[in-house]
Amino acid sequence: MSVDPRTYSYPADVLAGRIILITGASDGIGRALALRAAELGARVVLHGRHVAKLEKLYDEIEAIEGTASPSIAVIDLASANSEAYTSLAQSVESEFGRLDGLVLNAGILGERYPIEQYDAVLWQKVMHVNVTSAFAITQVLLPLLLQADDPSVIFTSSGVGRKGRAFWGAYAVSKFATEGLSQVLADEHRHGKLRANCINPGATRTRMRLAAYPAEDRDALKRPEEILAPYIFLLGPDSKGITGQSFDAQ
Ligand code: NDP
Repeated sequence: MSVDPRTYSYPADVLAGRIILITGASDGIGRALALRAAELGARVVLHGRHVAKLEKLYDEIEAIEGTASPSIAVIDLASANSEAYTSLAQSVESEFGRLDGLVLNAGILGERYPIEQYDAVLWQKVMHVNVTSAFAITQVLLPLLLQADDPSVIFTSSGVGRKGRAFWGAYAVSKFATEGLSQVLADEHRHGKLRANCINPGATRTRMRLAAYPAEDRDALKRPEEILAPYIFLLGPDSKGITGQSFDAQ
Protein backbone atom coordinates (compact mmCIF):
# COMPACT_ATOMS: atom_id res chain seq x y z
CA MET A 1 0.00 0.00 0.00
CA SER A 2 1.59 3.27 -1.09
CA VAL A 3 -0.71 5.57 0.93
CA ASP A 4 -0.16 6.19 4.64
CA PRO A 5 -3.80 6.49 5.84
CA ARG A 6 -2.70 8.85 8.65
CA THR A 7 -1.47 11.46 6.19
CA TYR A 8 -3.93 10.71 3.39
CA SER A 9 -4.93 13.88 1.59
CA TYR A 10 -8.12 13.92 -0.37
CA PRO A 11 -10.12 16.06 -2.76
CA ALA A 12 -13.04 18.08 -1.40
CA ASP A 13 -15.59 15.76 -3.01
CA VAL A 14 -13.95 12.43 -2.12
CA LEU A 15 -17.14 11.07 -0.52
CA ALA A 16 -19.57 12.63 -3.02
CA GLY A 17 -22.84 10.73 -3.22
CA ARG A 18 -21.88 8.11 -0.65
CA ILE A 19 -24.39 7.09 1.99
CA ILE A 20 -22.51 6.60 5.26
CA LEU A 21 -23.95 5.50 8.60
CA ILE A 22 -21.91 6.37 11.69
CA THR A 23 -22.79 4.87 15.07
CA GLY A 24 -22.13 7.07 18.08
CA ALA A 25 -22.32 10.18 15.92
CA SER A 26 -23.61 12.34 18.76
CA ASP A 27 -20.24 13.00 20.40
CA GLY A 28 -16.47 12.69 20.19
CA ILE A 29 -14.87 11.04 17.16
CA GLY A 30 -18.17 9.98 15.58
CA ARG A 31 -19.49 13.52 15.68
CA ALA A 32 -16.35 14.99 14.11
CA LEU A 33 -16.41 12.30 11.43
CA ALA A 34 -20.07 12.95 10.61
CA LEU A 35 -19.39 16.65 10.07
CA ARG A 36 -16.29 15.97 7.95
CA ALA A 37 -17.97 13.27 5.86
CA ALA A 38 -20.90 15.59 5.15
CA GLU A 39 -18.51 18.37 4.12
CA LEU A 40 -16.85 15.90 1.74
CA GLY A 41 -20.10 15.15 -0.04
CA ALA A 42 -21.52 12.17 1.87
CA ARG A 43 -25.11 11.78 2.92
CA VAL A 44 -24.70 10.80 6.56
CA VAL A 45 -26.99 8.72 8.74
CA LEU A 46 -26.39 9.91 12.29
CA HIS A 47 -26.85 7.20 14.87
CA GLY A 48 -27.04 7.86 18.59
CA ARG A 49 -29.28 7.40 21.60
CA HIS A 50 -30.08 11.05 22.44
CA VAL A 51 -32.41 12.78 19.99
CA ALA A 52 -31.49 16.28 21.14
CA LYS A 53 -27.76 15.76 20.54
CA LEU A 54 -28.44 14.28 17.11
CA GLU A 55 -30.79 17.12 16.17
CA LYS A 56 -28.15 19.67 17.12
CA LEU A 57 -25.64 17.92 14.87
CA TYR A 58 -28.28 17.66 12.13
CA ASP A 59 -28.71 21.45 12.27
CA GLU A 60 -24.95 22.00 12.16
CA ILE A 61 -24.64 19.87 9.04
CA GLU A 62 -27.61 21.55 7.41
CA ALA A 63 -25.97 24.92 8.05
CA ILE A 64 -22.87 23.98 6.04
CA GLU A 65 -23.31 25.19 2.49
CA GLY A 66 -23.66 22.46 -0.11
CA THR A 67 -24.11 19.51 2.26
CA ALA A 68 -26.85 16.94 1.74
CA SER A 69 -29.44 16.64 4.49
CA PRO A 70 -28.50 13.94 7.00
CA SER A 71 -30.79 11.35 8.53
CA ILE A 72 -31.14 10.46 12.18
CA ALA A 73 -31.34 6.95 13.64
CA VAL A 74 -32.07 6.75 17.36
CA ILE A 75 -31.20 3.42 18.99
CA ASP A 76 -29.90 2.80 22.49
CA LEU A 77 -27.40 0.02 21.85
CA ALA A 78 -27.55 -1.13 25.47
CA SER A 79 -31.22 -2.06 25.23
CA ALA A 80 -32.12 -2.39 21.53
CA ASN A 81 -33.96 -5.49 20.38
CA SER A 82 -33.92 -7.11 16.96
CA GLU A 83 -36.96 -5.09 15.83
CA ALA A 84 -35.02 -1.87 16.38
CA TYR A 85 -32.21 -3.10 14.12
CA THR A 86 -34.64 -4.37 11.49
CA SER A 87 -36.43 -1.04 11.51
CA LEU A 88 -33.07 0.75 11.06
CA ALA A 89 -32.33 -1.35 7.97
CA GLN A 90 -35.83 -0.77 6.62
CA SER A 91 -35.55 2.99 6.95
CA VAL A 92 -32.09 3.09 5.28
CA GLU A 93 -33.45 0.90 2.51
CA SER A 94 -36.56 2.97 1.92
CA GLU A 95 -34.64 6.26 2.01
CA PHE A 96 -31.51 5.29 0.08
CA GLY A 97 -31.78 1.72 -1.26
CA ARG A 98 -28.15 1.02 -0.38
CA LEU A 99 -25.36 1.84 2.07
CA ASP A 100 -21.82 2.70 0.95
CA GLY A 101 -20.12 3.06 4.32
CA LEU A 102 -20.72 1.82 7.86
CA VAL A 103 -18.60 3.16 10.73
CA LEU A 104 -19.08 1.19 13.95
CA ASN A 105 -17.77 3.82 16.30
CA ALA A 106 -20.12 3.86 19.33
CA GLY A 107 -18.58 2.49 22.48
CA ILE A 108 -18.42 2.66 26.25
CA LEU A 109 -15.50 2.35 28.61
CA GLY A 110 -17.11 0.57 31.55
CA GLU A 111 -15.04 0.69 34.73
CA ARG A 112 -11.43 -0.15 35.29
CA TYR A 113 -11.11 -2.95 37.82
CA PRO A 114 -9.01 -6.07 38.16
CA ILE A 115 -10.70 -9.14 36.71
CA GLU A 116 -11.35 -10.56 40.17
CA GLN A 117 -13.51 -7.54 41.06
CA TYR A 118 -15.08 -6.76 37.70
CA ASP A 119 -18.86 -6.61 37.96
CA ALA A 120 -20.40 -9.31 35.75
CA VAL A 121 -23.42 -7.20 34.77
CA LEU A 122 -21.20 -4.32 33.69
CA TRP A 123 -19.01 -6.79 31.80
CA GLN A 124 -22.02 -7.94 29.78
CA LYS A 125 -23.11 -4.37 29.08
CA VAL A 126 -19.69 -3.33 27.75
CA MET A 127 -19.46 -6.44 25.59
CA HIS A 128 -23.00 -5.86 24.36
CA VAL A 129 -22.61 -2.18 23.43
CA ASN A 130 -19.08 -2.51 22.04
CA VAL A 131 -19.26 -5.85 20.20
CA THR A 132 -22.66 -7.52 20.03
CA SER A 133 -24.43 -4.40 18.80
CA ALA A 134 -21.73 -3.93 16.13
CA PHE A 135 -22.39 -7.50 14.99
CA ALA A 136 -26.18 -6.92 14.97
CA ILE A 137 -25.95 -3.66 13.02
CA THR A 138 -23.49 -5.11 10.53
CA GLN A 139 -25.65 -8.19 10.01
CA VAL A 140 -28.83 -6.26 9.40
CA LEU A 141 -27.17 -3.73 7.08
CA LEU A 142 -25.09 -6.20 5.04
CA PRO A 143 -27.71 -6.62 2.29
CA LEU A 144 -27.76 -2.84 1.81
CA LEU A 145 -23.95 -2.64 1.83
CA LEU A 146 -23.88 -5.30 -0.86
CA GLN A 147 -26.18 -3.11 -2.99
CA ALA A 148 -23.38 -0.50 -3.15
CA ASP A 149 -20.59 -0.56 -5.75
CA ASP A 150 -17.78 0.05 -3.27
CA PRO A 151 -18.92 -0.78 0.27
CA SER A 152 -16.70 -0.26 3.30
CA VAL A 153 -17.14 -1.21 6.95
CA ILE A 154 -14.95 0.33 9.64
CA PHE A 155 -14.77 -1.13 13.14
CA THR A 156 -13.27 0.80 16.06
CA SER A 157 -10.48 -0.80 18.01
CA SER A 158 -8.04 0.41 20.63
CA GLY A 159 -4.46 -0.11 21.74
CA VAL A 160 -5.80 -2.32 24.54
CA GLY A 161 -7.56 -4.43 21.90
CA ARG A 162 -4.21 -5.61 20.58
CA LYS A 163 -2.24 -6.06 23.78
CA GLY A 164 -4.05 -6.67 27.05
CA ARG A 165 -3.49 -4.19 29.86
CA ALA A 166 -4.21 -4.59 33.57
CA PHE A 167 -7.58 -3.27 34.79
CA TRP A 168 -9.00 -2.51 31.33
CA GLY A 169 -11.33 -5.51 31.74
CA ALA A 170 -14.32 -5.80 29.44
CA TYR A 171 -13.31 -2.77 27.37
CA ALA A 172 -10.01 -4.37 26.34
CA VAL A 173 -11.65 -7.74 25.71
CA SER A 174 -14.42 -6.08 23.65
CA LYS A 175 -11.80 -4.43 21.46
CA PHE A 176 -9.95 -7.73 20.91
CA ALA A 177 -13.33 -9.15 19.87
CA THR A 178 -13.91 -6.19 17.57
CA GLU A 179 -10.62 -6.87 15.80
CA GLY A 180 -11.80 -10.48 15.42
CA LEU A 181 -15.21 -9.50 14.07
CA SER A 182 -13.58 -7.24 11.50
CA GLN A 183 -11.20 -10.01 10.37
CA VAL A 184 -13.95 -12.62 10.12
CA LEU A 185 -16.16 -10.31 8.06
CA ALA A 186 -13.25 -9.34 5.82
CA ASP A 187 -12.34 -12.97 5.22
CA GLU A 188 -15.92 -13.93 4.42
CA HIS A 189 -15.94 -11.26 1.71
CA ARG A 190 -12.36 -11.65 0.50
CA HIS A 191 -13.51 -12.49 -3.03
CA GLY A 192 -16.17 -9.78 -3.11
CA LYS A 193 -16.35 -6.01 -3.16
CA LEU A 194 -17.02 -5.41 0.54
CA ARG A 195 -14.03 -4.39 2.62
CA ALA A 196 -13.83 -4.44 6.41
CA ASN A 197 -11.07 -2.88 8.48
CA CYS A 198 -10.37 -1.64 11.98
CA ILE A 199 -9.12 1.73 13.15
CA ASN A 200 -7.51 2.36 16.51
CA PRO A 201 -8.06 6.12 17.00
CA GLY A 202 -5.25 6.45 19.57
CA ALA A 203 -5.37 8.95 22.42
CA THR A 204 -7.96 11.52 21.37
CA ARG A 205 -9.50 14.40 23.30
CA THR A 206 -13.03 13.13 23.97
CA ARG A 207 -15.31 12.51 26.91
CA MET A 208 -14.27 8.83 26.98
CA ARG A 209 -10.58 9.65 27.12
CA LEU A 210 -11.19 12.16 29.92
CA ALA A 211 -13.04 9.49 31.90
CA ALA A 212 -10.15 7.04 31.42
CA TYR A 213 -7.39 9.55 32.24
CA PRO A 214 -8.89 12.35 34.34
CA ALA A 215 -5.53 13.80 35.38
CA GLU A 216 -4.11 13.99 31.87
CA ASP A 217 -3.20 17.25 30.13
CA ARG A 218 -6.06 17.47 27.63
CA ASP A 219 -4.30 20.09 25.56
CA ALA A 220 -1.58 17.58 24.72
CA LEU A 221 -4.10 15.29 23.01
CA LYS A 222 -5.19 15.41 19.42
CA ARG A 223 -8.74 16.58 18.82
CA PRO A 224 -11.14 14.26 16.97
CA GLU A 225 -11.00 16.51 13.89
CA GLU A 226 -7.25 15.86 13.64
CA ILE A 227 -7.39 12.07 13.38
CA LEU A 228 -9.93 11.59 10.62
CA ALA A 229 -7.72 10.95 7.57
CA PRO A 230 -7.70 7.12 7.90
CA TYR A 231 -11.49 7.09 8.21
CA ILE A 232 -11.86 9.16 5.03
CA PHE A 233 -9.31 6.95 3.28
CA LEU A 234 -11.17 3.75 4.18
CA LEU A 235 -14.59 5.21 3.30
CA GLY A 236 -13.53 6.58 -0.07
CA PRO A 237 -12.49 5.11 -3.41
CA ASP A 238 -8.72 5.12 -2.81
CA SER A 239 -8.86 2.17 -0.40
CA LYS A 240 -10.50 -0.25 -2.83
CA GLY A 241 -9.15 -3.75 -2.24
CA ILE A 242 -7.81 -2.99 1.24
CA THR A 243 -9.49 -5.32 3.72
CA GLY A 244 -8.88 -7.31 6.88
CA GLN A 245 -6.40 -4.78 8.24
CA SER A 246 -6.12 -2.76 11.42
CA PHE A 247 -4.87 0.82 11.23
CA ASP A 248 -3.68 3.36 13.76
CA ALA A 249 -5.13 6.82 13.29
CA GLN A 250 -2.11 8.41 14.96
P1 NDP B 1 -17.31 9.38 23.29
O1 NDP B 1 -17.69 8.91 24.63
O2 NDP B 1 -16.98 10.80 23.07
O3 NDP B 1 -18.46 8.99 22.22
C1 NDP B 1 -19.04 7.72 22.26
C2 NDP B 1 -20.22 7.70 21.34
O4 NDP B 1 -20.89 6.42 21.49
C3 NDP B 1 -21.26 8.76 21.69
O5 NDP B 1 -21.90 9.22 20.52
C4 NDP B 1 -22.25 7.99 22.56
O6 NDP B 1 -23.56 8.52 22.60
C5 NDP B 1 -22.25 6.65 21.83
N1 NDP B 1 -22.82 5.63 22.68
C6 NDP B 1 -22.34 5.16 23.85
N2 NDP B 1 -23.19 4.27 24.38
C7 NDP B 1 -24.23 4.16 23.53
C8 NDP B 1 -25.44 3.43 23.53
N3 NDP B 1 -25.78 2.62 24.54
N4 NDP B 1 -26.30 3.58 22.49
C9 NDP B 1 -25.99 4.42 21.48
N5 NDP B 1 -24.87 5.16 21.42
C10 NDP B 1 -24.01 5.04 22.44
O7 NDP B 1 -16.09 8.44 22.85
P2 NDP B 1 -14.98 8.56 21.72
O8 NDP B 1 -15.42 9.45 20.63
O9 NDP B 1 -13.70 8.78 22.38
O10 NDP B 1 -14.97 7.05 21.22
C11 NDP B 1 -15.37 6.63 19.93
C12 NDP B 1 -14.79 5.24 19.68
O11 NDP B 1 -13.36 5.32 19.68
C13 NDP B 1 -15.15 4.23 20.76
O12 NDP B 1 -15.41 2.98 20.17
C14 NDP B 1 -13.90 4.15 21.62
O13 NDP B 1 -13.78 2.92 22.27
C15 NDP B 1 -12.81 4.35 20.57
N6 NDP B 1 -11.53 4.83 21.09
C16 NDP B 1 -11.39 6.09 21.58
C17 NDP B 1 -10.15 6.54 22.04
C18 NDP B 1 -9.95 7.91 22.59
O14 NDP B 1 -8.82 8.22 23.04
N7 NDP B 1 -10.95 8.79 22.58
C19 NDP B 1 -8.96 5.67 21.98
C20 NDP B 1 -9.21 4.35 21.43
C21 NDP B 1 -10.46 3.97 21.00
P3 NDP B 1 -23.98 9.66 23.71
O15 NDP B 1 -23.51 10.95 23.14
O16 NDP B 1 -25.45 9.54 23.76
O17 NDP B 1 -23.31 9.27 25.00
